[in-house]
Amino acid sequence: MILATVADFPRLGYNDGMNWDMTGYEWAVTLLQNHIRRDEIRHTYLITGAPGTGKRTLALHFAQALDCLNPPAPGEFCGVCRTCTHFSSMAHPDLMVVKAEGEGKEIKIDQIRQLQSTLSLSPYEARWRIALLLNLQQANEQAQNTLLKTLEEAPAKVILLVTADMAENLLPTIVSRCEQIRLRPLPVEQIESALQGKSADPQQISLAAHLSGGRYGYAANLLDNPDLLEDREQRIEELHSLYGNSIRERFKYAEDLCARGKDLDKTRGILRGVLVNWLNYMRDCMLAAAGSKVPLGNIDYEPKIRQLGAAIGMDEACRITAALEECLDRLDRYINPRLLLEVFLMDLPKISQASL
Ligand SMILES: [Zn+2]
Repeated sequence: MILATVADFPRLGYNDGMNWDMTGYEWAVTLLQNHIRRDEIRHTYLITGAPGTGKRTLALHFAQALDCLNPPAPGEFCGVCRTCTHFSSMAHPDLMVVKAEGEGKEIKIDQIRQLQSTLSLSPYEARWRIALLLNLQQANEQAQNTLLKTLEEAPAKVILLVTADMAENLLPTIVSRCEQIRLRPLPVEQIESALQGKSADPQQISLAAHLSGGRYGYAANLLDNPDLLEDREQRIEELHSLYGNSIRERFKYAEDLCARGKDLDKTRGILRGVLVNWLNYMRDCMLAAAGSKVPLGNIDYEPKIRQLGAAIGMDEACRITAALEECLDRLDRYINPRLLLEVFLMDLPKISQASL
């Protein structure tokens, strides 16, 4: 077989990789492209990183590069053929997606078994049959053990792409059978310079970069959706008011907030948005109270954060941060989200407005 050479692709360039859209992780794109170019494709890849780092995007683009019907260069994908478009919407007979049915839910052993029976068939139309297992840390030990059999005896023409927050949250026997790609958080400065092309003022770019926690996609999304930044501001102001409020006023806040959700899922969604903003803010307070040199996320609120940190002290800031983490963790399992919020607000210390 004669392989195409660089000269065959003058317009796009051999080392293009632009349409992978993986700012800061070009090394990972090159690594995966080289596996295709050198015919060194592994059976199983594990992509780890915090939520919003682009694990799923990287996996899907790799799947596209593997199966594109009209690749502009080896290791590239066209983005417009039937396979590329169906892969990007995760609807293609040769792409099996396994994920939990919602936040806080588990990947069940039955889902793994179903995957195994599908994978035993040969590809429907593509070169490779791809199994995409998203956030495998949500699979319990039993389900992970069942998956192990597939990793040990991977069927031919099957590639497994696994994503997870941390390798430590998976069985070591699974991790050892994967080619691992770690998407580590990017430095604030790198995100800031990558965002320069966006039409936003420098202050907003700097704020988005600081709030992103090292995730370019998260920062870009904040700039593309100014509502998110406005919403964050409103939630922070509300949190400050709640510190000064009586229990009765706090319960009224919980009632009004939860009344905005038309059903349980919407109420949870609204509450999740509030809790995430409060959590980020309280983490900053904790850092400030501890005198940490780590840069804050909510840089525009720095004086207020330092004031609040000083008023409640480090221990209390830690306790409130942990309580918010627990609320988020339990939100999807709680039948009554309003009660969850009320319990949290009841334990919030009362601080006179003068010290805020
Ligand atoms: Zn294509």
